[in-house]
Amino acid sequence: MSSSVVVSQTVAELRARLDAERSAGRTIGLVPTMGALHGGHASLVARALSMCDVVVTSIFVNPRQFGPGEDLGSYPKMLDDDIGALADLGCQHVWIPSTGEMYPEGYGTRVELDGPTDVLCGVTRATHFGGVLTVVLKLFNQVGPEVAFFGQKDYQQALLIRLMVRDLDVPVRIEVCPTVREPDGLAMSSRNRYLSPEEREQAAALNRTLGALEEAWRAGETDAARLMGFARAFIGRSPLVRIDYLEIRDPATLAVRDGPVRAGDLVAVAAFVGSARLIDNRQLTDG
Ligand code: AMP
Repeated sequence: MSSSVVVSQTVAELRARLDAERSAGRTIGLVPTMGALHGGHASLVARALSMCDVVVTSIFVNPRQFGPGEDLGSYPKMLDDDIGALADLGCQHVWIPSTGEMYPEGYGTRVELDGPTDVLCGVTRATHFGGVLTVVLKLFNQVGPEVAFFGQKDYQQALLIRLMVRDLDVPVRIEVCPTVREPDGLAMSSRNRYLSPEEREQAAALNRTLGALEEAWRAGETDAARLMGFARAFIGRSPLVRIDYLEIRDPATLAVRDGPVRAGDLVAVAAFVGSARLIDNRQLTDG
């Protein structure tokens, strides 16, 4: 059953509406997205609704987090469907700024973090995290949420946002929610829409590889290089999947794991499947 959802398109109207919510004593949760919503986004909205009185979902395809040659121009846009889905979920506010509203003429500030921005996704996407942190800080300042909700799928992004919030004393709590998957284990992503049926089938190899690596570790192999060699051979059985990186890292610092691989370690993978660049990760558990 769909309820009404209020769409704001300028900072001024968003602020006025959220000030009214705050005056009525309501707590506010924020779910930042780039739209083309799927079950992963829906899980964040559901978690936000369970913890906050009012939920704001932002939809903004942030040009500053895309590099040259990436998919900014082709990123899926389906605003009407997204707004309908958010209304059905019970989300009360949708924040859809234009690029000009977000970055007006003369805009020139960028968040830079002296942390692990240049590893994993930061290697091939050099300007990506600066763009993400900048827009997320702007969204925090525009919305003023008590809690903001992010997905575990983008592990490095969530970790960097936590560091930024800590370093800059941003008064918001960060909640990281589990990755939602398709029945065959593929992590839901707006970019899965780019996949042909054959690519879609092979894309499930990402999560299967993480599972196979975890099994090998549980069976007693703790050498990172051997585990990664095994995982690369495993993913090699899916020829349409081209690995960008596959690494085992310290979950708190993202430093390379040099000693024995241990419980809690992060296994992170990024791969091109056709034109889509997909990411996934898993933290090892003893099972
Ligand atoms: P995006 O629209 O891809 O920028 O994602 C918006 C938010 O949804 C981010 O915090 C993502 O980590 C999160 N997200 C994306 N995919 C999933 C998923 N499959 N499960 C859980 N959260 C997700």
